[in-house]
Amino acid sequence: MTSIMNRFEEIQSKILAATRSSGRKPGTVALMAVTKTRILPEIIEAWQAGIRLFGENRVQEAALKIGEWPTERLAEWRLIGNLQRNKARKALDLFSRVDSVDRLELAVDLQRILSERDSKVEVLLEVNTSGEASKHGVSPERTEKLLEGILLHCPRVTIRGLMTVGPLGADAREAAAAFSLLRELRDGLSERLGFELPELSMGMSEDFEMAIEQGSTCVRLGRALFGPRE
Ligand SMILES: *Cc1c(COP(=O)(O)O)cnc(C)c1O
Repeated sequence: MTSIMNRFEEIQSKILAATRSSGRKPGTVALMAVTKTRILPEIIEAWQAGIRLFGENRVQEAALKIGEWPTERLAEWRLIGNLQRNKARKALDLFSRVDSVDRLELAVDLQRILSERDSKVEVLLEVNTSGEASKHGVSPERTEKLLEGILLHCPRVTIRGLMTVGPLGADAREAAAAFSLLRELRDGLSERLGFELPELSMGMSEDFEMAIEQGSTCVRLGRALFGPRE
C-alpha cells in the first residue's frame, strides 16, 4: 500500500469515529481531497485509493491537471478558492461546482454565462467566520443579504449550503466556535427564509474531527492525505 492509501484508511476511520461519537449517521460526511500544489501522479494515487471528490483553489492550476485527467476515471472537481470574475467562464468549464461564492457580482456573472449555456450550477456560499482580514468570504452579518440577492437575481445558481475556512493556527476552542457559528448561521437562514441549506463544508487537516462534531457534511483535506506541502 502507498502512503496515500494508508493515510486515507486512517482518515476514514477517524471520520467514522467522529461521526458516530457526535451521534450522526455513518456516511453523512464527504471527504474532499484538496489537490492544490499536488501533481497528477499523487492525485491518481488518491483516486486509486477510492477518492472521487477533488477540490482545487485556483482555476489556472486546475486547468492543467483536469486537462490531463483521463476521462474514464470518473471524478468530481470543485473550486474551493477565491474566484476572480474574469475567470468565471473558465471555472464553469472545469468545475462541477463553485464552493466559494462570496459576493453577488460573481453570482450574477455565473448567472449570465449559465443563461447563455442554458445550464445551472450548484454552489456554496463562503463565509468568513473568523473575522481574519486575510480571509475570503462574506461576513456572517452579510450572508443573508447575499443569499437573498442570489435567490432573487440568479435562478440558475442553486445554493446548497455554506463553506468556511477555520481560523489559522487557532486553538481547539476558537476553531469549534467558528464551526458552530457557521452551523448556527445556516440554521437561522434556513428557518427565516424557509429554504433548505443541507451542506456545511468545514474542517481541514488540523480540525476536521471537530468540524464533524459541529455538523460538517464535507471535510476538505490536503496535508492529512498527501503529506506536507512544499
Ligand atoms: C488548502 C485548503 C484546504 C486543505 O488544507 P489542509 O490543511 O492541507 O488540509 C481546505 N480548504 C481550502 C479552502 C484550502 O485552501
